[in-house]
Amino acid sequence: MTKRDYYEILGVSKDASVDEIKKAYRKLAMQFHPDQNPGNKEAEEKFKEAAEAYAVLSDADKRRNYDQFGHAGVGGAGGGGGFQFDPNQFADFQDIFGSFFGGGGIFGDIFGSGQRRRAGGAEQGSDLQYTLRVDFKEAVFGVEAKEIEIPRMEACDSCGGSGCESGTRPQACPQCRGNGQVAVRQGFIQMYVTCPRCEGRGQIIPSPCTNCRGEGRIHRRSKIKFKIPAGIDRGQRLRLNGEGESGRNGGGRGDLYVVFDVAGDPLYERDGFDLHRTFEVPWPILTLGGNLPIETLYGQDTLKIAPGTPGDKVVKIPNAGVPRLRGAGRGDLYLHLRVAVPQKLTPQQEQLVKELLETMISNGQAPEQPEGFLAKVFGSEKNRKKKKR
Ligand SMILES: [Zn+2]
Ligand SMILES: [Zn+2]
Repeated sequence: MTKRDYYEILGVSKDASVDEIKKAYRKLAMQFHPDQNPGNKEAEEKFKEAAEAYAVLSDADKRRNYDQFGHAGVGGAGGGGGFQFDPNQFADFQDIFGSFFGGGGIFGDIFGSGQRRRAGGAEQGSDLQYTLRVDFKEAVFGVEAKEIEIPRMEACDSCGGSGCESGTRPQACPQCRGNGQVAVRQGFIQMYVTCPRCEGRGQIIPSPCTNCRGEGRIHRRSKIKFKIPAGIDRGQRLRLNGEGESGRNGGGRGDLYVVFDVAGDPLYERDGFDLHRTFEVPWPILTLGGNLPIETLYGQDTLKIAPGTPGDKVVKIPNAGVPRLRGAGRGDLYLHLRVAVPQKLTPQQEQLVKELLETMISNGQAPEQPEGFLAKVFGSEKNRKKKKR
């Protein structure tokens, strides 16, 4: 039997969107679903065919292979029956059918099981996520023992997580005999559905613990201490194994993911492991050169300014940035120089600057100024007092 084209099966065009493919499949699946067509072999074939086409066309990689190589590109060498279902597809199938057929394990029998719930009652606890805002320096230097408080489900102290009143034990569910699922026959097809009595847990608790009402866990705010590594940045995630929620009925704990938010700093701007900051330098030092004391995150340092340094120069101080999370060393610190221009001068300073400007004008280093300009701009004591009147 030659295989039909997947696009043809679903009745969509070759450039159909994922949404169109999903819709087309859902329509066919409902039409040919075994529930709707008990004992109809042809409908069963159509149903399987549509499911297979959907499994390929809804997966970008497989679809690309199929478009390029046809059936040979997606398992089975062109012949019927060679197709293998990827168990990862299951989540998607359930997603699609959830609202139509009430979820459950309907595909357990058709496509090979794998989705059947583990019997025994215990369930793995869920993972939690917590956003933690730290200040700039906590992120740079790390924190040896940061304490946070999180609300989470924890194993019940009274029953130790079993959910049973002391002295009693859970019993295998009589309805599903501990399987968590019960088989339902629909004509030629056998389906498994979640056991309604134990809700899939496979066991029931005859006398529930009064503290947790049989859940095996209670809601609590807990304090957790952990180390923040030096160099973490905004948006990064730290996993704390086993600090998530406790599972039901004594199941293992999930993990806690701490996501960092880092506050800004008035002085530093962070770019990965490098830091940037502006640094004011009095203009005579830029002209003459000199040494300037500078306080970095790691202590006192000296910045050497060469004579004639441009006022917008960027100076790198190596290894004065943020510690690298993985690997050794730190990023660098970049100082963006800015000329500091004094707003107030003493009469003596004013006189000196005026003289400097005059020599610069006569040397051709500054443009000629209009008549009387210098007197107006800098003014003498006498002129200033006259103006005020
Ligand atoms: Zn049951
Ligand atoms: Zn309890």
